[in-house]
Amino acid sequence: MTETRRPPEVDRAAASRRAVAARRERAALKQDVAMRVITPQELLQRAWDHPESPAGAMRITEYLTALPAIGEGKRDRILAELEISPVKRLGGLGPRQRKELSRFLDGRFPPHTPRAGRSRLIVLAGPTAVGKGTVAAHIKEHHPEILLSVSATTRPPRPGEVDGEHYYFVDDVEFDRLIADGELLEWATVHNKYRYGTPKAPIEKALAEGRTVLLEIDLQGARQVRAAAPDATLVFLLPPSWDELVHRLVGRGTEDEEERARRLRTAKGELASQGEFDYLVVNDTVPRAAAAVAALAG
Ligand code: 5GP
Repeated sequence: MTETRRPPEVDRAAASRRAVAARRERAALKQDVAMRVITPQELLQRAWDHPESPAGAMRITEYLTALPAIGEGKRDRILAELEISPVKRLGGLGPRQRKELSRFLDGRFPPHTPRAGRSRLIVLAGPTAVGKGTVAAHIKEHHPEILLSVSATTRPPRPGEVDGEHYYFVDDVEFDRLIADGELLEWATVHNKYRYGTPKAPIEKALAEGRTVLLEIDLQGARQVRAAAPDATLVFLLPPSWDELVHRLVGRGTEDEEERARRLRTAKGELASQGEFDYLVVNDTVPRAAAAVAALAG
């Protein structure tokens, strides 16, 4: 009688569950790179630090096509040029291949280098739902030396919001006046609905006293501050992963499919603007992200 060497049923089931989990983790990593939540270089580093991890087990072919603007044709040309076999996994690349691939990536996706000589005016922006408000509130509580700017808005107060503390709640006429009298450093209509703006006077006063000022505003506002005060410190808050941002954006699942898709498209576009910022901070835990932002106050 011939002996068959098939593993017991339970082992095969466990192995297949592990394979599914590993595939899912690789898919999540590819998505993080595609959505620019992590850089291509960061994913490679993870693969090389831990060749047995999902990052290390990723094939070079799937890695390259996950990168922004690289399709299958371009991928094959890159592999030929770098002399890397398409069956290679990231964790299994040799020293020469690693060097060549890194050089290629740094040319195509230049690493983010913080700009020096920034001022004490810090702008915190980032994609919708990344948790800017929570991080700003944490800084306000734990770093009283930093002034958290109070914006003016035409949005009505939510329960518990206090005028002058969370926002200055104003009507359209008053908002028009603030703009006309040049009292706002920047302003924008957010989510196509209400107007929000940063009063200039309290900021100028605090900066003159040598204090650090923090603005928690949207992307349009951050760009206006860059134009009005080119030496401002612009910080972009990143989610720890794309999945986590999706969860925070549509987690409650109360929106219809169209609204869901719209929010995800917006978030993708917002993430693509991170290159305009001086610093990137990952909001993995609120205290850690808040400490990283507060540290920029010097
Ligand atoms: P919420 O209505 O939930 O308090 O805020 C909505 C959005 O408005 C947030 O993304 C917040 O960053 C943004 N925002 C708050 N104040 C300002 C401001 O003064 N200027 C700009 N441009 N955006 C603001």
